[in-house]
Parts: sequence; structure tokens; C-alpha cells
Amino acid sequence: MLKISDFELYSIVTGTIALDGGAMYGVVPKVLWSKVEEVDELNRVRIAMRTLLAINKKTGCVMVIDGGAGDKWPQNELDRYAIENRPHAISDTLKRLSVSKESVTDVILTHLHFDHVGGFSYSNERGETLPTFPCARHWIHEGHWRHANAPTERDRASFLKRDLAFLHTSNLLRFVTGDNPEPTLKGVEWFVSNGHTPYMLLPIFKGETFDLMFAGDLIPNANQLNPAWSMSYDLFPLTILSERKEVLKRCLETGMRLAFPHDMKMAGAAVMFDGRRYSVKEALDF
Ligand SMILES: [Zn+2]
Repeated sequence: MLKISDFELYSIVTGTIALDGGAMYGVVPKVLWSKVEEVDELNRVRIAMRTLLAINKKTGCVMVIDGGAGDKWPQNELDRYAIENRPHAISDTLKRLSVSKESVTDVILTHLHFDHVGGFSYSNERGETLPTFPCARHWIHEGHWRHANAPTERDRASFLKRDLAFLHTSNLLRFVTGDNPEPTLKGVEWFVSNGHTPYMLLPIFKGETFDLMFAGDLIPNANQLNPAWSMSYDLFPLTILSERKEVLKRCLETGMRLAFPHDMKMAGAAVMFDGRRYSVKEALDF
């Protein structure tokens, strides 16, 4: 657990997924990235799918940020991505903390790629898709919602209709708007990032000694602290380059920490710069 102001934060691994190594590291040659990643026989690297749980006992706010891939997967697709799901990981942590699913007040959808949103819904015996957290407001940037419902041919495979259905039919969606959105949740600022996908919404928890940003797919793991090591999935590589530099500069100047959605080894990190490259100053486990 990590305490930031009145929030208690927990990083929960909801499963792992194997993605093509070339897609994970874009233009970086394998001879370089293979020094920091293990590769399977199909050239895939295994990444974690992490959820950030934030609990404020003073206000009763229980926030779940990103939800993993969920368990609505046919076998052939599970095999394609070698998904190892831990479908009960979030509910097990909530149970351990004596928090019911109905007590979750807010879900934050950084973006709607299947490995971030799938766990927020499930299918019942009648084949209906229902929300995992039925009482939570589901926050998303309005610009990303529009994009996810009309993606390009390049990224449409990342958005699954079965994951978005419940957001269309329930009254749970809440939109954040604009390039510099006003805070809507106490103690949390928004950072809007457009390099990976349009209008990704990243929360920054405001602390007394340091802030913590859930870095989403802007900086998905510690290897990608190198601003140029971006993914082939990033729609706008030059935008992500400048956004990463902006965030990393803020880390150095203010001591802001990052929480990663996809790192296998660490929940987050404090960052350092040696004049040439950024790296992990301190790995955070929470
Ligand atoms: Zn993504």
C-alpha cells in the first residue's frame, strides 16, 4: 500500500498478456530491447495488466483505475495473446479490505483498449453484459469515447464491442472534456495525453510530499522511461515523445512518482536522469 494524502493506493495485477516484441518497442531494434525483455518462441514479450485501486476512508471514495482484460474471451483469442487471467484479483483485494463491489464509487477508464477495460464488465448465463461495479461513475474523456466508437483501421482491433456495450446501455458514463480538464474528483488532477490514442485520461494523485501519476500507456513500463522507446501501437509517435518528456521533466522537478499499468516487476517508480537517460531511481511496490 502507498499512502498519498488521504488515499491508500494498491497496484493489483489482474493478469498477464503476451504481445509481439516488435509491436511493444516500435522502431527500437530487437538487439537492444531483448537485453531487457525475455522473448517467447513466437517473439512475444509478457506484460502485466495492472489496476490501481485508490481508497479514501475520509470521503468514502473508492476508485478503480483500469480493469485488465476481463474474462469474456473465447479460447482462440486467449491463445493468440497467451492471456493468463486472474479474474478475481480485484474482487479478492476489495474483499481483503472489506470493501464491496457496490461501494466502488468511481471507475476511471484511461482509455478503452481491451487490456484496460475488459474487466469492468462480465457476461451472465443469459449472455448479457453487465458492469462489474454497478454503482460507480465511469469516467472517460469525451474525445476518447468518440474515437473508440469510430476507430481507425489501424487501431480498431484494440476496441472490442463486447467491452463497450455496457457503457452504451447503462447510465454509468461520465465525461471529462477539454485539453486541460478541471478536476472532478477531490485530490485528483487530470492529465490528457494524445500520443498513444486520442484523449487518454491519466489521473494524478496530489500528495503532501510527492504526487503520483497513473501513467497509462503513455509510459506503460519502466523500460519505456526512454522517451524514444515507444510502441508500434502508439498512433502519434512524435506526440508521445514530447508528452513523455513533459511528464519526465515534471517527475524530476517535483519528485512526482509514476504508477505503471504494464510492468511485470514493479508497481511504480521514482525517476532519475543521469544527463543521458532516464531510469528508475527507486522501484515502488504497493
Ligand atoms: Zn492502450
